[in-house]
Amino acid sequence: MTQKYVYFFGPTGTEGDATMKNALGGKGANLAEMAKLGLPVPAGFTISTEFCTVFFAEGRQFPQSLREEVAAALKKTEEAMGMKFGDPDSPLLVSCRSGARTSMPGMMETVLNVGLCPATIPGLIKKSGNERFVYDAYRRLIMMYSDVVMEKAEDIEPADGKGIRVQLEHLMAKMKKSKKCESDTDLTTADLKKLCEQFKAKVLEVLGREFPDDPSEQLWGAIGAVFKSWEGRRAVSYRKIEGIPGEWGTACNVQSMVFGNLGNTSATGVAFSRNPATGENKFYGEWLVNAQGEDVVAGIRTPNPLNEGTKNPQNQHLPSLQTEWPDLYKQLDEIRSKLEKHYHDMQDIEFTIQEAKLYMLQCRNGKRTGTAALNMAMDMLDEKLIDEKTAVTRVQPAQLDELLHPIINPAAEKKAEAFLSGLPAGPGAACGKIVFTSADAVEMAKKGEKVILVREETNPEDVEGMRAAEGILTARGGMTSHAALVARGWGKCCIVGAGDMKIDLGAKRLSVGDVKLKEGDLITLNGTKGKAYAGALEMMDASENPRFQGFMKLVDQFRTMGVRTNADTPEDAKVARQFGAEGIGLFRTEHMFYGVGSDEPLFLLRKMILSKTVDERKAALAELFPFVKKSIKGTLEAMDGLAVTVRLLDPPLHEFVPQDAAKQKSLAESLGIKPSEIKKRGEALHETNPMMGHRGVRLGITYPEVTEMQIRAIFEAATELKKAGKDPKPELMVPVTCDVRELDVTKVIFDRVKKEVEDQTGVKIDCLYGTMIEIPRACLLADRMAKTAQFFSFGTNDLTQMSFGFSRDDIGSFLHDYLEDNILEADPFQTIDQNGVGQLIEMAVAKGRATREKLKVGICGEQGGDPASVEFCFRCGLNYVSCSPYRVPIARLAAAHAAIKAKK
Ligand code: ADP
Ligand code: MG
Ligand code: MG
Repeated sequence: MTQKYVYFFGPTGTEGDATMKNALGGKGANLAEMAKLGLPVPAGFTISTEFCTVFFAEGRQFPQSLREEVAAALKKTEEAMGMKFGDPDSPLLVSCRSGARTSMPGMMETVLNVGLCPATIPGLIKKSGNERFVYDAYRRLIMMYSDVVMEKAEDIEPADGKGIRVQLEHLMAKMKKSKKCESDTDLTTADLKKLCEQFKAKVLEVLGREFPDDPSEQLWGAIGAVFKSWEGRRAVSYRKIEGIPGEWGTACNVQSMVFGNLGNTSATGVAFSRNPATGENKFYGEWLVNAQGEDVVAGIRTPNPLNEGTKNPQNQHLPSLQTEWPDLYKQLDEIRSKLEKHYHDMQDIEFTIQEAKLYMLQCRNGKRTGTAALNMAMDMLDEKLIDEKTAVTRVQPAQLDELLHPIINPAAEKKAEAFLSGLPAGPGAACGKIVFTSADAVEMAKKGEKVILVREETNPEDVEGMRAAEGILTARGGMTSHAALVARGWGKCCIVGAGDMKIDLGAKRLSVGDVKLKEGDLITLNGTKGKAYAGALEMMDASENPRFQGFMKLVDQFRTMGVRTNADTPEDAKVARQFGAEGIGLFRTEHMFYGVGSDEPLFLLRKMILSKTVDERKAALAELFPFVKKSIKGTLEAMDGLAVTVRLLDPPLHEFVPQDAAKQKSLAESLGIKPSEIKKRGEALHETNPMMGHRGVRLGITYPEVTEMQIRAIFEAATELKKAGKDPKPELMVPVTCDVRELDVTKVIFDRVKKEVEDQTGVKIDCLYGTMIEIPRACLLADRMAKTAQFFSFGTNDLTQMSFGFSRDDIGSFLHDYLEDNILEADPFQTIDQNGVGQLIEMAVAKGRATREKLKVGICGEQGGDPASVEFCFRCGLNYVSCSPYRVPIARLAAAHAAIKAKK
């Protein structure tokens, strides 16, 4: 028995269901599920994703066994529909639709009306009694087929504007113009007939092949194209961005056609069971009379609103389905409820109405903005549609980012006047320089510029540019257009359908009435309102909303791992606390030597660095002491009751030596030496490779008094707070260690100073003594390190640098190539390299805990706020992750997801 690859769905005998997503793809599995639920789904069959792998293994060929399986399933389909594929009297037409496990919007286009050709045209005319419709369907087939099957699937890469589809569209535009037609629907039967002939001639001219007029050849060509498209450039590029593995493959759905373009009682539409932008519990969608397939999302005509309650400024003059065809609307609305109850989630639905009869063509869990995800999760919890755990899993950690996203300062926005409005397709606000092509967006973003991608409309070719841009603005398209879908998926600020905007792509200019802007000009978008402003408006952080806080409370019910923050100032600490940080995992005292107010402490630090004798140094340290103590005290106070991990001075001293003459002179004066002496001492401190130089614990080994001063500052600060009735919880972290003896030497100072302060004040302070693990050798010797260290905190930035031998600051010059050539899957400084660096972490945790069972372990690198890294840390058994304040909620949610996943 050979393996089964083909699964039938229809009114009777559906073979698959929604649990079979891996084999049938999302689309196929849900078509089967809807058919099983008794919804009106046109019959068809799905060729499984497993065949996709076979297809490529067989050299892009179909084995005989598959041809037989398809023939059998086609026969069942024909029986269900009462028509026959390729039959001259009663021809069945089908669509060929790709569908992977997760939806990849627009990556692989569907071919409709397969099976239509001169041999079947007369039969269909007779059956439908509508000759115009038949030729309309035929011209669509030629257009889609030549583009998707004959060009894209064959990896033909035409020059810009030379693709077959564009050329055919051009012919059609010419025809419309010569006939003075406004809309496609104004073209007559004769026009369309002529157009089909022109199309076929053009196909032959451009692609050098006849358009295939044999139904079976069409069908197999289309099936092959679906599978080939899996390895097409656009699909590969999208997979890379989304991290979808190549071996998943796509399924191919062959489904009986139903026609929304059969006249004025036919229509096609898309809908969401709730609003995907806001989450509001209202049926939301768009539809068009006498239209087929992608017409609604292509932005050719402005689609009608689904109902009265969701009209917007762009479509309020248009009729809704609710008022036009109330019975059909009611039926659709019932299906909406049925599907939501069945799937327990918001559904994205495609439907077609053929001569006043409703058909369901697709349903899937709808993409949504972070705001909508949060609101829907909380609403559905209230409606008892889902439980608390499910609610927590409904929001992706990265989506939270968007809730914390900047918005335009409302005061500034009130004063400003929008030069353009469109549909609010992606949330938050964005500000950047105008670019008109995807390539320019990528190019400028690489240079660190913030850009807004402005397009007529976007298509899958633009995905990389859309990714690189801060925001996206298109002149055409509705709320379900490509731009809107992709932006929503990413939570990116986006405005679509800004119809007043005229774009001159050649000159790289745009105009809206009198307002003229060019490439490089700054604009600001409000994606939540759909308004665009010239210039850069003031932005601000989205304020705390109670919905968000309620959700985060739920999150914490499932979270088991701690989340701390990296904060250097009391201000940062306060923000992080508001976001739910449970302590500080990394507090860097050197912060006081940079930026505002740093003049005096920096001067004293320099004095200390350039001291020649121990006495000089001690004197300088004594002067510096109050600043250090004050800084530590402020942060301990802001985090009252929560742990604060204070790291000893880490950077190479050389970084602080003054370079300019004036500063050298004043230093010399204060030290009572000649400026030339300063220069000399500075040169003596010079290091060839300061990042690996005299820094971290090494400083304290050479200059114990430097360590002592810092430890004393910690204990005195904590003592003062404790006396004032506070609850300080300092922890001391020794950086850049590679051997336990470094820790032992430093511990002697720690114990002595602790005792001295206690004896002096009579106040006892508990302070954990631990180390930052950031050198591979420390991981290798972690069992020994843990003899002295009471906690480890992985400094994954340096650990990554030293494991790879990559300099984080210079990786930009080659990282791109590494990603492009698939040598690395991701930037290891953004997400932990689980295969390599991850092994060091796992080993260090195991070895450390073998020595000290209760060893506390955390991570304080940038990756601490990256969801995948958080999950990894959870699996390693870390006690906490620590990340920048704005990532704290993301890390909390990621940690909750990891815990929920582990329990499954
Ligand atoms: P995508 O995954 O890009 O949404 P689809 O396979 O859903 O692609 O198809 C594109 C368009 O064609 C959709 O509007 C869909 O409803 C329509 N369509 C697909 N199959 C049929 C069919 N058998 N009959 C009528 N319309 C169809
Ligand atoms: Mg679809
Ligand atoms: Mg470090």
